[in-house]
Amino acid sequence: MNTADPFPATHTEPSAALRIALAGNPNSGKTSIFNLLTGSRQHVANFPGVTVERKEGRLNHLGREWSVVDLPGTYSLTAYSIEEIVARNFLVEERPDLVVDVLDTSNLRRNLYLATQLQELELPLVFAANMLDVARRRGVKVDLAELSRQMGIPVVGMEGHRGRGLAELRRVVVGTLDETGEADGSPRHRLEFGEDVESGLAELEDRITRGWSAAVRAGKLANPPARWVALRLLERDNRIMERLEAWQVDPARIRALADELSARIERLSGTSAELFLANRRYEHINRLLEECRATGPPLGRQFRSDVTDRLLLNRFLGLPIFLLLMYLSFQLTFSLGELPMDLIEGGFNRLAAFLGQHWPLGGLSWLKSLLIDGVIAGVGGVLVFLPNIVLLFLCLSLMEDTGYMSRAAFLMDRLMHRIGLHGKSFIPLLTGFGCSIPGIMGTRVLENERDRLLTMLVLPLMSCGARLPIYLLIIPAFFPEHLHARMLFSIYLIGVLLAVGLAKLLRISVLKGENTPFVMELPPYKLPTLRSVWLQISIRAGLYLKKAGTLILGISILLWALASWPRPSSYSEDTMAGEAGLQREIAAQAQAGQERGSAPLEAWEDELTRIANLKAEEELEHSLLGRLGHFIEPAMRPMGFDWKIGSSMLGTFAAKEVFVAQLGVVFALGETEQDSEDLRRALRERYRPLIGFCVMLFALVATPCMATFAVVRRESGSARWAWFQLLGLTALAWLLTTVVFQAGSLLGF
Ligand code: GDP
Ligand code: MG
Repeated sequence: MNTADPFPATHTEPSAALRIALAGNPNSGKTSIFNLLTGSRQHVANFPGVTVERKEGRLNHLGREWSVVDLPGTYSLTAYSIEEIVARNFLVEERPDLVVDVLDTSNLRRNLYLATQLQELELPLVFAANMLDVARRRGVKVDLAELSRQMGIPVVGMEGHRGRGLAELRRVVVGTLDETGEADGSPRHRLEFGEDVESGLAELEDRITRGWSAAVRAGKLANPPARWVALRLLERDNRIMERLEAWQVDPARIRALADELSARIERLSGTSAELFLANRRYEHINRLLEECRATGPPLGRQFRSDVTDRLLLNRFLGLPIFLLLMYLSFQLTFSLGELPMDLIEGGFNRLAAFLGQHWPLGGLSWLKSLLIDGVIAGVGGVLVFLPNIVLLFLCLSLMEDTGYMSRAAFLMDRLMHRIGLHGKSFIPLLTGFGCSIPGIMGTRVLENERDRLLTMLVLPLMSCGARLPIYLLIIPAFFPEHLHARMLFSIYLIGVLLAVGLAKLLRISVLKGENTPFVMELPPYKLPTLRSVWLQISIRAGLYLKKAGTLILGISILLWALASWPRPSSYSEDTMAGEAGLQREIAAQAQAGQERGSAPLEAWEDELTRIANLKAEEELEHSLLGRLGHFIEPAMRPMGFDWKIGSSMLGTFAAKEVFVAQLGVVFALGETEQDSEDLRRALRERYRPLIGFCVMLFALVATPCMATFAVVRRESGSARWAWFQLLGLTALAWLLTTVVFQAGSLLGF
């Protein structure tokens, strides 16, 4: 995993604007400050090749413009987590013109650890001492002016959630950017590691400076300061070791020198060089905090929102309260979403009906079909989910912003850990029962990339609402009434069990790695702000519409075309004879000039529908989709499926609901005219119950729909994961269904 080159050779296109990066610990308020600085002028994407979100925006001030990047939250700049690697690469490779380190002032000791590492990068730095209100409440007192003097870095006190300190931050940021041209480059306030180490470091630094490769010298390759490289080498940072090949003329020599020095440190200190350096950093920070008279609770202790947490995290009440809140969220998402959903759906239906009625007779009927069956059906199919997505993200962002989400994850963590998932995965997974798309987008609450991927990959096994119509068609067709509810429940349960098994399997194979420790802090409760909630929702909704919408539209049109072409030049003899017979009869009646009784009219209508259906079936069989159905029939056989089921299954890739409509077409029953009972009868006559069950099983596990594919591709940052999921789940479905069908057949079902 993380196969994406952590150091892409080509830099992202340099923008004319100066670039500001926001760094800081998770939950220190980076995103809040980012939003304040950039407003809605922002753009969300992923860092190349990884699932880590990259937000970029624009800051305007007195007619000038800067670009601002919100880096992933990290506790340090070592290379242990993908977030750290991403943040670090950005700082090293793209050398932003200024870094704003957002500090949680109520927890300075831990936050300054990152600050000392940022300093080593020798980039212009500004501290945003955020969370002043929390610090005040916790009784933490810090002399910010002294901190600024001691570290030689401008410090701005802030309360990011309320926008306090913003004006000052802008002023200082712009001022610092304007000054940087004049600075002499050598940091005055740097952390020293003691004479012994420093003398060794100086030598190593010197070698590195003299040994920069031609690419670095020519300015084709960005390079960090020599001291930074030297320190990373002492820490035996693998990625930097590898990187030396490109950076240095004689990497082996440098590596040997660094090894020598770290061995010396280890002899002198009795600990690993890495630990030694970390200890020195903490000592330095402790001294600093004494100077700044920072007082407050010791490192790592939680501020407890006592009363509330005693209730919400209660051993007995915690889980029920959580489940209740989740239930309410789903209620809200799916029941409140129903009205706007119906409106949207109704609107599209009316549009389709309008087009159908007013289309000039005989003119461009393929275009009519394209618009109605392709475009409107496709776009409409996407848009109807929008209310759900907005409502779900409303709930999620409220839970996140109030600080409840961390508690929920805390509650679920032990359970989820047993199956190799993170506590926070629970919520997106639950969402998946509604629809995989918001569920997959909801994995953004997971900060760790591996957890996020794992959750995303197994999520389609949570049987989504679109599969429900399939079950609702099949179950009554084959099973007696008293078994209906139990069948439905079993299908859902099979999905959950498969997800659990698969998660475990992936954890020990493709997504191997140490379990992410649950370094979840319980942030203090807060009132969410309208602005932050609105931003979260609008960004997500926009992304959904833009990306998934365009793709769905494209594939709907493709599927429509596959099912429509080529057209047969003639129909079978039976069909033709039937049609001719009907025409003759009508003509005869007309000639006889009989007054039209209702009976023959009705009979004609039935006959007309029957013939139209026959034609539709023949057209389908003749079309590419029908031929594909025949083509894949050998692969479907072991599962007990014939070409009719097979070609209907092809449609499920567009959207799961398509299966039912498609089956209707395949069985030559116009989709709208008759009720599903007719279709059930046709199915019952043709297939065994075992096959019915296999259809459900296959639909549950196989091919997540194309919207899922598109979203996984975007959210995972690579098409490979989306293909992995698509092919993997389809293969699993095939295997499973085949085994069930073959075993079932043997047992005589
Ligand atoms: P990030 O993880 O660093 O991006 O942090 P966020 O910007 O997402 O902030 C985490 C939470 O802290 C959000 O709920 C913010 O509303 C809240 N927050 C941000 N700044 C402050 C602050 O100065 N005081 C308080 N009390 N809350 C803040
Ligand atoms: Mg953030």
